Amino acid sequence: MIHSLLSRWIDATLAIAYPERCQLCEVHPATSPQGFVCRACQKKLRPTKPPWCLHCGLPIESNRNLDSSCLNCREANWQFHQARSVFTAQGPIREAIHRYKYDQDEFFEAFLRQCCRKGRALTPANYDALIPIPLHPTKERERGFNQATRFAAFFSEISTIPIKANLLKRIRFTETQTHLPRSQRLRNVKGSFHCPTGLNRNRFLLIDDVMTTGATASAAALALKKAGARQVDVLTLARALPF
Ligand SMILES: [Zn+2]
Ligand SMILES: [Zn+2]
Repeated sequence: MIHSLLSRWIDATLAIAYPERCQLCEVHPATSPQGFVCRACQKKLRPTKPPWCLHCGLPIESNRNLDSSCLNCREANWQFHQARSVFTAQGPIREAIHRYKYDQDEFFEAFLRQCCRKGRALTPANYDALIPIPLHPTKERERGFNQATRFAAFFSEISTIPIKANLLKRIRFTETQTHLPRSQRLRNVKGSFHCPTGLNRNRFLLIDDVMTTGATASAAALALKKAGARQVDVLTLARALPF
């Protein structure tokens, strides 16, 4: 009797703390294994698909020359070989990533894990390791975790590619780049990364949450190439669109 009362009380407390409702629209039911994102919100996800810029993966209009790079890439000398993103950074994925990072809404984790696993179709499997783009240690201490490390772990579960989280170091603290124009982002991240270990011509896949211009990924790729990496590609969960 006491036991059943206690378990009902625990269930009721959990239901208040984590209501079985979508935490994005707050309308439809959604469970813990769904990461509290309902089916209707999941249908709003926009996977990136061709035609895209062959270099940075930015979706481009279908009447453009498919062999061409986007305007962004033609002006830049990116140090990564190829970048791909699972979704365009809109709607549910954008909000879930933002709240996971800045509001510590960890209940989205099951949803984000499923999203990361969809990246497998976008990338070849023959990398020597996944490398999460590191945060500066001060920023990681403030936030309590690096989202890129978690996303790399989710992708590693499905791809079985090992993670090397400590190869790449972020040696300069940079303020958030969200509102900076591209030229300033490039200057801002220059020299931000360092890889102290020799890399023996290996192939790596950098992992991050969102790619905007590509400046951060390029600076990270350059540090790996200086240390001897043969090829560096990039996979992000979301891709910010410039339009
Ligand atoms: Zn919803
Ligand atoms: Zn491009």
